[in-house]
Amino acid sequence: MTQAYLSIQGVDKSFGSFSALKEINIDIQKNEFICLLGPSGCGKTTLLRIIAGLEKPSHGRITVGGRDITSLPPAQRNFGMVFQSYALFPNLTAYQNVAYGLQGKKFSKKEIDDKVREVLSLVDLTHLHDRYPAQLSGGQQQRIALARAIVLSPDFLLLDEPLSALDAKVRIKLREQICDLQEKLGITTVMVTHDQEEALTMADRIVVMKNAEVVQIGTPEQVYDEPNSPFVADFIGSINFLKGDLQGGYSSQRNLAVRPEHIRLSAPGSSSGIQAIVKHVEFRGAFYRLLLQPIARFGIEHGDELLTVDVSAHISHQLGLTKHAEVTVEFPQEKMITFSTEAM
Ligand code: ATP
Repeated sequence: MTQAYLSIQGVDKSFGSFSALKEINIDIQKNEFICLLGPSGCGKTTLLRIIAGLEKPSHGRITVGGRDITSLPPAQRNFGMVFQSYALFPNLTAYQNVAYGLQGKKFSKKEIDDKVREVLSLVDLTHLHDRYPAQLSGGQQQRIALARAIVLSPDFLLLDEPLSALDAKVRIKLREQICDLQEKLGITTVMVTHDQEEALTMADRIVVMKNAEVVQIGTPEQVYDEPNSPFVADFIGSINFLKGDLQGGYSSQRNLAVRPEHIRLSAPGSSSGIQAIVKHVEFRGAFYRLLLQPIARFGIEHGDELLTVDVSAHISHQLGLTKHAEVTVEFPQEKMITFSTEAM
């Protein structure tokens, strides 16, 4: 890897005796799209605010292009920011909202007009330039907020849950638009989200956080396929942790897990797998999600742990997987995720 563009080095943050961030180290490359992902309260927004200069770290430093910006006020950091709440001026039109940040800088009227028109066209809102925020949908308001954030050609873009106030369809559309824009402008971006699907679909790399710490950094594929702890495995996607005799032939590897889509099902008794009963069937549109109760064998009870299994409609119909049906379950070795005992 080349030298990091935006670098977070040994950042700690305490509020009184409460530790909101502990020893955070993240190196972000130029043009990279990074998602900070983690449960509520893990410190994502605090970290974003420290990058923005809205909050001072208790220890550590932030550099951009090798330059230490830790003690610079926000106005001197040259970044664009978008919040969940749009934060547009209600009494200004879309055009005026975007132009606002350019006024008072050394731009001529013509330059301002050119820049505003260019970014409005980038977010596909030229035709709505004279509407007030109240006359725009949530998705359109957020695109104006985005236009306003990029109009000053910032060095980096900070997005704080920009999609969470929008409904599902608009959110998915805007995901694509943000990614396209980020790629087109080649702008280094850090986005906070607690939505794992958003992080998986948008990020070049995901920083997974838990209790004020970074627990894993990797591409979406790495954090999904090779989670380094049960927490990451469970937070990103669904996972089955295999206990007791369900580990069968894998007993040398003590801590095992498997994704619902990797469990193989076949007709009852058709292989050496474990027998199970279908307890619950959920139709998920593109697939079925089943909850299976392994059947006690050799006097060994499996307890109440149900296995979560995702199967295609084709397999589900072929095996007649309705409630109470019996099925054989196998765990393909190459799909098993293993954790060291320390990770548990
Ligand atoms: P969410 O997804 O809910 O926004 P988050 O991961 O962004 O959560 P932060 O907002 O960074 O979490 O907050 C991290 C922790 O720091 C929380 O426990 C929060 O209560 C605490 N915290 C944040 N700001 C302050 C503050 N100004 N004073 C005291 N505690 C704070």
